[in-house]
Amino acid sequence: MSVSFKNIEEKLRTESKKLLESGRVSIVLAYTGGYDDKHPLPYVARKAADAEKIIFNEYCTANMARYLVRYPRGTKIAIAVKAADSRAIVQLIQEEKVKHGDLVILGIPVYGMKNFKTEEIIDSKTTCGTCNPVLYDILLDKEVHGLHMASPYDVLAEYEAMDKEARWAFWKKELDRCIRCYACRKACPMCYCDPCFIDQNKPKWGEKSPESSGNLMYHLTRFHHLAGRCIDCGECSRACPVDIPLYLFHKKVAKECEEMFGQAAGMSIEDKPVLINFRVDDTDKILE
Ligand code: SF4
Ligand code: SF4
Repeated sequence: MSVSFKNIEEKLRTESKKLLESGRVSIVLAYTGGYDDKHPLPYVARKAADAEKIIFNEYCTANMARYLVRYPRGTKIAIAVKAADSRAIVQLIQEEKVKHGDLVILGIPVYGMKNFKTEEIIDSKTTCGTCNPVLYDILLDKEVHGLHMASPYDVLAEYEAMDKEARWAFWKKELDRCIRCYACRKACPMCYCDPCFIDQNKPKWGEKSPESSGNLMYHLTRFHHLAGRCIDCGECSRACPVDIPLYLFHKKVAKECEEMFGQAAGMSIEDKPVLINFRVDDTDKILE
């Protein structure tokens, strides 16, 4: 069994054209060509003819759910989603940022997606180890089954082997390299606060220039804000120009949340976000 990216691309174009022609949606969020195959761009198709410019290949890793909150509520939007992207939509629905009724979710079952910088396959390393979208209205290919996927948490082994001091030294060294470009924030579908706490002046939460204490404040607060909400798309890490492995922290928190509360972010529209939901049988381990 193998994925036909061309087939998915063709179906994405056909469905987008139909949806725009019929007036069911006013825009389609998908991908178009960049300066080469490895650099596809997020794309907004607004009329049927635009659908011809849509592409899909193994480098289309950007999480298009990132762009949903930019449109006024009630805008009818079709959106191309892979598994992790669909989890972002589920999480955004849980958080009442978008309504399923305003969306046509074009689901893409896929594996073999690649990191454009390293060419490595990222299916379980940084894209949640799931091939099939968890929520869709139109499925663009057959669901993928029977594939052995490593646990998305396997990449934590080396990190988890470190003691507290080693972990602190690791993050201090990594976060000191941050140049505060905020590409991680821009790429993240769950980072939608406007303004972001770190951009505020009254009160001022942390230094804005790239230096140790401000970097720590920005990242630790962002890590905390994403606890129980990060859907493991890995886009923050791939967007980072200095390759800080942000995914390690997000995955570790996601793993702890899953173990403590028995649910992973964005897997079911019926769930409530773990950290804003109180259940009498919730564990107190989070306070330790
Ligand atoms: S924190 Fe990173 S991995 Fe998690 S949802 Fe945001 S971009 Fe994706
Ligand atoms: S993308 Fe990388 S360098 Fe830019 S703010 Fe985020 S962690 Fe820092």
